Amino acid sequence: MNTKLWFDPAKLLVGGAWREAEGGGAIPVENPSTGETIASIAAGTAGDVEAAVSAAEAALDGEWGAMTATERGRVLLRWARLVEERAETLAFLESTDVGKPIAQARNDATALSRYFEFYGGAADKVMGETIPYQAGTTVLTLREPHGVTAHIIPWNYPMQILGRSIGAALAMGNACVLKPAEDASLSALAVAALAEEAGLPAGALNVVTGYGHEVGAALSAHPRVHHVSFTGSVGTGRRIQSAAAENVVPVTLELGGKSPHIVFDDCHLEAALPTLVGACIQAAGQTCSAASRVLVQRGIYEEVKAKMAAVYNGLVAGPASGGFDLGPLVSGKQKAIVTRYIAKGRDELTIAGEGRIDDSAPAKGHYVAPVLFADVPADHALAQEEIFGPVQVMIPFEDEADAIRIANGTDYGLVAGVWTENGARQMRLARRLHCGQVFINNYGAGGGVELPFGGTGKSGHGREKGFEALYGFSRLKTVSIKHG
Ligand code: NAD
Repeated sequence: MNTKLWFDPAKLLVGGAWREAEGGGAIPVENPSTGETIASIAAGTAGDVEAAVSAAEAALDGEWGAMTATERGRVLLRWARLVEERAETLAFLESTDVGKPIAQARNDATALSRYFEFYGGAADKVMGETIPYQAGTTVLTLREPHGVTAHIIPWNYPMQILGRSIGAALAMGNACVLKPAEDASLSALAVAALAEEAGLPAGALNVVTGYGHEVGAALSAHPRVHHVSFTGSVGTGRRIQSAAAENVVPVTLELGGKSPHIVFDDCHLEAALPTLVGACIQAAGQTCSAASRVLVQRGIYEEVKAKMAAVYNGLVAGPASGGFDLGPLVSGKQKAIVTRYIAKGRDELTIAGEGRIDDSAPAKGHYVAPVLFADVPADHALAQEEIFGPVQVMIPFEDEADAIRIANGTDYGLVAGVWTENGARQMRLARRLHCGQVFINNYGAGGGVELPFGGTGKSGHGREKGFEALYGFSRLKTVSIKHG
C-alpha cells in the first residue's frame, strides 16, 4: 500500500503499546478487488487475549476508571473529530481491505465519526432514578459499567460496527478488548491508533487481531470478561453465547437476516423503486439488514418485476475504486458460497434480471454479477437462507394477511420495509412484523446512529446503536438508604 499510514498493521494494541503477536504469527491481507496480498496483520493468540484483558483491568483501576462521564465524553468527541479529519484514508483502507466501493466506505467513515459524536455527547446524560419506597428510606439506582467488555466484529461494516459497539461501551466507562475480523482489521487498527491521539488512556481500548477460533474463542470464554458484544453469523453467535454462559455473563448478539421489503399496490412506487434494489446490493449484498426478499402485491407484481429487472440489467460490478454499483465480495470463500446459491437458483428458479462484471475487473478479484430471481416460492432455500451476496428474490402476495405470513415465515427477524400509503395498515404491519426494526416508506439498511438496532429470532438479541445501547453496556445497581 502506498498510502502513508499512522499505524503498523502488523501489530496489536495492548495496554497502550503496539507489539507483535505472541509467537510472531501473521495473517496475509488480501485486496478482494485484485486478489493481491497487500499487507499482513498479527495472528493473535490466547496469550495476547490474556494480556489484553489484564491491560483493560489495569485501565479500570487507573486513569480510565477515574475519569468522569464528562471527561469520557470529551475523549469520544475528540476521537470523532480525528476520524472526520482522516476519513479519506480510513475510507481508502476499508475499501481496499473489504472491496467496498469507495463512496460507500466514505459513508462508513462518516457514520463512525457520528457514533463517537453521539456517544461522546450522551456519556454524561445517562442517569439513575430515585424510587418512592418505605417512609424514612431513599432508594436510588446507579448505572455502572460492566467492567471488561469484549467486542467481536465481522468484516462487512468494520468501522460502523466498532463505532456503535466501542463507542457505547466506552461512554459508559467499560474497558474494551476488540477482535476485528481476520478479513478486515485495517480500519480497526487505524481507528484505535487515533484513540491514543484523542487522549484515551492506555488499556481502555485493546485490539487483538487474529482468527476467530483462536482469538475470538479465547475472548468470549475468558473468565474475567464481563460482557460480550458479538456481530456475525448465527453459528458463531451460538458458540459465543455458550462460551459466555459458562461464565454467566451477558451477551449482545447481532446476527444475520433475511429481511423483507413489502410492497403494497397503494404505494408510491417511483419512491420505492431505487430503495428496493439499493437496500440489497449495497456492500454487494453483504449487509445483515439487506432487503434480500421483495414481497409484492399481485396487482402490481408484473410491473415491479419489469422495473426491478431493468435496474438489475444495468448494474455493473467492478473494482472498489472504480465508481461501480458494487464491488467484489470480501473473499474467495464468500464468492464460492454465493456462487453456489446462484447456481441452485439458475437450476430451480426464474431469473428476472442480471447485472454484469465490468471488463476492467481483475480475474483474481472476487466478483459476482447481481441476480434477481422472480416468482420464488416462499419456502425455497433462496427465500429462507441468508446468502450474503447480491442476490434478491421476488415473491408475490395476495393481501395483508398473506404478506405478514410470508414476511414472518423465516427463522430471522432483523429488519422489514413496508411500502404503503395506508396509515392504518402501516401501524398494523409495524406491530405484527417479527423483527427489531420496521422502515415504513423508507429503508435505511440499519438506519441512523440514533436508532436502536437488533433482532429477534435467529437475528439475535440485545440492542446496539442509539441511547438504548448505553443501557446494554451498563448494569443497574439499586441503593436503599434507611435514614429515619
Ligand atoms: P462470522 O461469524 O464468521 O465472524 C464474525 C467474527 O467472529 C469474526 O471476527 C470472526 O473471526 C469471529 N469468530 C469466528 N469464529 C469464532 C469463534 N469460534 N469464537 C469467537 N469468535 C469467532 O461472521 P462473518 O462471516 O464475518 O459475518 C457475516 C455475518 O455477520 C452474517 O451472518 C451477517 O448477517 C452478520 N452481521 C450481522 C450484523 C448485525 O448487526 N445484525 C451486522 C453485520 C453482519
